[in-house]
Amino acid sequence: MNTLIHFDYEYINEDEIDDELKCGICKQPFESPVSLRICNHTFCKVCIKIWLSQNQTCPICRHVARHHFGPDNQSHEKSPYVPINTKIVLNQLDRLLVRCLLCQEINIQRCHWKNHEKRCSRRIVTCPSVDIQCPWKGPRDKLSIHLNHCTYQQMRPLIDEVKNELILTRTKQMELKTKINLLERKVTFLCKFINRGNIMSLNCKKPEVKCKYNSNDGFDQTHQVICNLCNRYIFSKEIFLHDCQGGCICCYCVHSQYSDHLKKCERSKEPVD
Ligand SMILES: [Zn+2]
Ligand SMILES: [Zn+2]
Ligand SMILES: [Zn+2]
Ligand SMILES: [Zn+2]
Ligand SMILES: [Zn+2]
Ligand SMILES: [Zn+2]
Ligand SMILES: [Zn+2]
Repeated sequence: MNTLIHFDYEYINEDEIDDELKCGICKQPFESPVSLRICNHTFCKVCIKIWLSQNQTCPICRHVARHHFGPDNQSHEKSPYVPINTKIVLNQLDRLLVRCLLCQEINIQRCHWKNHEKRCSRRIVTCPSVDIQCPWKGPRDKLSIHLNHCTYQQMRPLIDEVKNELILTRTKQMELKTKINLLERKVTFLCKFINRGNIMSLNCKKPEVKCKYNSNDGFDQTHQVICNLCNRYIFSKEIFLHDCQGGCICCYCVHSQYSDHLKKCERSKEPVD
């Protein structure tokens, strides 16, 4: 089996590397070594993972390394391998020297490979303006030449400005929407309150006129009426505003409309009992 992990490096003096440090599957020095619980044989994590997805036994000693399978063909036992954390082994692996296949730099310690990747002059990188669709890709040491004539990069300040402007506009739009919603609620409330000219009030406006909602005038207190604003059935004690001829708004509607104001009022004045 060939190497399963692709790195852009090769080992220096690979033949001289201790076989003890090499994986029996890919024949390369271990990458993230793990050992099988059953027999302690060690492999790269990726190598043994792929191996065990197709086989049940250790590739070296043929011990059964993996047992149970559920109905979904997934193993339900604990992981058949554990990571190696023997410092001596890990340090030896870290100190292995590699050559970069892109820039040909030699004697890079394997543990420093990630750092090398970040600065390797021949590594393929994208333009910093890739986020605004610059399609350029090339070796890192050609990037500065590209940047000298990259139109995306030149447009960048302008595009960023427009972008920020757009974000601001969107925020403003959201704020306005919230404001409009609030105003709409207020207008609806006022329309119901005005009640086609028969403006509602807290108490009966003219005591001499018969009140639709007054029990003294024959109104059954156990009956429910409909709030003009929320259209829910309410009891007469829940009426906050009314017009004797007809039309009322419940205390809950008033409360939610003026909750900020009512919070400042004394509790005794609150409409909800
Ligand atoms: Zn391997
Ligand atoms: Zn084994
Ligand atoms: Zn190191
Ligand atoms: Zn390199
Ligand atoms: Zn570019
Ligand atoms: Zn009344
Ligand atoms: Zn209501």
